[in-house]
Amino acid sequence: MTDVFGDLVGQDEAVAMLRRAAASAAAQLRAPVTAGGHDDLDALAEEYDGDPGPAPADPGAGMTHAWIFTGPPGSGRSVAARAFAAALECVHGTGCGSCPGCHTTLTGTHADVRLVVPEGLSIGVNEMRALVLRAASAPSGGRWQIVIIEDADRLTEAAGNALLKAIEEPPPRTVFLLCAPSTHPDDISVTIRSRCRVVPLRQPPPAAVAEVLVRRDGIAPDVAEWAAAAAQGHVGRARRLARDPEARQRRDAVLAVPRRLTGVGAAFDAASALIEAAEAEAAASVVEIDEAERTALQTALGAGGTGRGAAGAMRGAAGQLKDLEKRQKSRATRAQRDALDRALVDLAGFYRDAIVMALRAPVAPVHTDTASLASAGAQKWDAEGSLRRLEAVLECRAAIEANVKPRIAVEAMMLALWRG
Ligand SMILES: [Zn+2]
Repeated sequence: MTDVFGDLVGQDEAVAMLRRAAASAAAQLRAPVTAGGHDDLDALAEEYDGDPGPAPADPGAGMTHAWIFTGPPGSGRSVAARAFAAALECVHGTGCGSCPGCHTTLTGTHADVRLVVPEGLSIGVNEMRALVLRAASAPSGGRWQIVIIEDADRLTEAAGNALLKAIEEPPPRTVFLLCAPSTHPDDISVTIRSRCRVVPLRQPPPAAVAEVLVRRDGIAPDVAEWAAAAAQGHVGRARRLARDPEARQRRDAVLAVPRRLTGVGAAFDAASALIEAAEAEAAASVVEIDEAERTALQTALGAGGTGRGAAGAMRGAAGQLKDLEKRQKSRATRAQRDALDRALVDLAGFYRDAIVMALRAPVAPVHTDTASLASAGAQKWDAEGSLRRLEAVLECRAAIEANVKPRIAVEAMMLALWRG
């Protein structure tokens, strides 16, 4: 039986840091309230304020009110935040993994743990204000009131400001756990970052990912090894590739792109195919929840009505339906971008393999099943040509991130890949 940190693959340093903090937090709860009712946690939090460099004498021993989990997608930012939340709510204060505190936190039913998963492209100010307000209440379980914000880099500026106020003057038993790709000012405002302790996660090595797929998911070792390499350190993606035939087919189609680029027309066709595949994948991922939400709202509103106030109720209902449609559209856009980005990461892996082979570097390929194609590409394009193509893929990702219309960015990339 592993504890709550068992799911964190290849993150020994971060886990050690979180274990120390959880132990310190548990000691805090056991300690008598100090004179004047002042919380020791405030002193500890102040100790870390404005200290972005290496921590002083006793790094990571303390507990504080606000944390940022950073790392590349799939490194386990939200897994780490949830595990830490469980350790804080654990009745033994360790994150044993089996007590009610651990269990309800990990299954998302703990009354004092709130998880914000932005569905659209950003987290709005109203959502954040409501959250901050609820987070200020005393924890019902007597331990900690915890707010986990996934993709904190998608906070709007106003939402960030609402959050900052709460982090600057945190209620004594409230803990904020933010997840973001990095602490770069593009991802997290400098002022929020300065109030938080950072837990850096690294891209787990393929061997560690494969090991957890075999041990926990019962996946055959050869499949696990292939999937872990192909997923480039993204644990969830590796698991999907190992288990889901449709995910494998989509990946195969993406990796077929380089050999299909035989002319301008083929480049535009490949761009259309990539965009449409991302749209189809995204649509499939949201169709069930969209339908369930619409049905639930229609049931809640009742079907029609003729009594007094019915006309006003109808107007209100129309507004709520419109709001729902807006939210669903935003979520669909996000799902499309995510699907397209996964495809671009796969494609980047292919050209990276070509570079490695052109340079005869003693490094394992990302995509073992297309290694011979990458090798042929390496001979044809040489290292420089392969690098230019890799850069075209990375530029496409950056352009979409900067809100260039995906079709425009992908068409430009396909043309660049064809021309070299
Ligand atoms: Zn526990």
